[in-house]
Amino acid sequence: MENNLLIYNTLTRQKELFRPINAPYVGMYVCGPTVYGDAHLGHARPAITFDLVFRYLKHLGYKVRYVRNITDVGHLEHDADEGEDKIAKKARLENLEPMEVAQYYTNRYHTSMDKLNVLRPSIEPHASGHIIEQIDMVKKIIDNGFAYVENGSVYFDIEKYSKKYKYGVLSGRNVEEMLNTTRELNGQEEKHNPVDFALWKKAEPKHIMRWPSPWSDGFPGWHAECSAMGCKYLGETFDIHGGGMDLMFPHHESEIAQSMAAFGKAPVHYWMHNNMITINGQKMGKSLGNAMSLEDFFAGNHPLLKRAYSPMTIRFFILQAQYRSTLDFSNEALEAAEKGYRRLMEAVKTADTLVATETADKHGVQKLVDACYDAMNDDFNSPIVIANLFEATRIINSVKNGQATICAEELDILVNKLLKPFVFDILGLLDTDSSDETVVGGLMQTIIDIRKEARAKKDWATSDLIRDKLAAIGIEVKDGKDGTTWRKI
Ligand code: ZN
Repeated sequence: MENNLLIYNTLTRQKELFRPINAPYVGMYVCGPTVYGDAHLGHARPAITFDLVFRYLKHLGYKVRYVRNITDVGHLEHDADEGEDKIAKKARLENLEPMEVAQYYTNRYHTSMDKLNVLRPSIEPHASGHIIEQIDMVKKIIDNGFAYVENGSVYFDIEKYSKKYKYGVLSGRNVEEMLNTTRELNGQEEKHNPVDFALWKKAEPKHIMRWPSPWSDGFPGWHAECSAMGCKYLGETFDIHGGGMDLMFPHHESEIAQSMAAFGKAPVHYWMHNNMITINGQKMGKSLGNAMSLEDFFAGNHPLLKRAYSPMTIRFFILQAQYRSTLDFSNEALEAAEKGYRRLMEAVKTADTLVATETADKHGVQKLVDACYDAMNDDFNSPIVIANLFEATRIINSVKNGQATICAEELDILVNKLLKPFVFDILGLLDTDSSDETVVGGLMQTIIDIRKEARAKKDWATSDLIRDKLAAIGIEVKDGKDGTTWRKI
């Protein structure tokens, strides 16, 4: 199947013509969430980026098998194979089964993604459901001489691997340097070298998530799952592997090493990485107090948020940047995105009401369609698509206002070749901006503002009345040093 689609391949650092191994079938794997907390803005970007890729490939006629995993075991608190399992820790603190934690946050992740109109993947495998496949792969790596067993744990041997292959092909890290600079720090642990990573970890007696293996009762290392599940569902080499830039090292780098070590083959043709989202120029993080969940955005329920923003505003905001560019969140940026989104949706509705005339102005609508395909074919350049859709909006409004006319042919192209495919199928926007949730968020903000005003005037009677009335319908209002938040109880 021919196409002109160029994809920027992180591995080769250039745009390459997309040629799937087995067209019309495309295998795509994207690293999914570690399910121990609510999805935040940082989760929305890869989800929406690869949703755009998934949608566009399908639009081009490919049959895409899209695998996005759920990490429910093996992601330790400190990514360098140390610390408690993130899910087990949450389970311990809240006195729950680890799988209860994983299921709870998986459900919530799905809900948030559904609101963002992110299509569900074709297969959503869980790491804990693929322990056998991971053990199998570790066995192969040991048999091929690229891993060693130490006290029941198995580690990938970077030094040995580097004699045959190159560790660092994806991230561009210099393994020689890493081996030399870190060697002196060694000696405190089982690893022969601190750059080695765990393929299997022996479980401490108190560790609850454990499975039998040839080496110990334990659990797989974090990088093992994606290699094992990618291989199981997409084959030893598949087309596209995606994820956030923060996963490039060590996670994806190690996936490449594991596949080379196990099968002697590179696992992926096109590596794609989306850039990160910053908040007012700062990195997002729990410790920085700016890690807002998506549900916080939808409800306007965080001191940093001026008000609620609908899921479609968030989606539009993310699509307004090319996926490899940085994207900075601010209330102003979201307000601008909301305006743009509304203007586009209005135009889509208006277009359906336009009446064509026989003698009409020429608008060059087909050129806009071509420009949208060119933009998508240039590494999924969604902001250029949006700019062309705004150009269409201008034409629609001028016809509506009687400043211009349009012929039947151009109107048909406008509606059926431009707006419908690009706005709905490819960008995945929905015309549902006034969801109940946004309305509730707006109402709650109004109520909280009135209460704030009462408190400023020392009108405690009104302030308490509002709090008690809300409590009576199951809403708790909490006053913190940064402002007031609310939640359903
Ligand atoms: Zn992964």
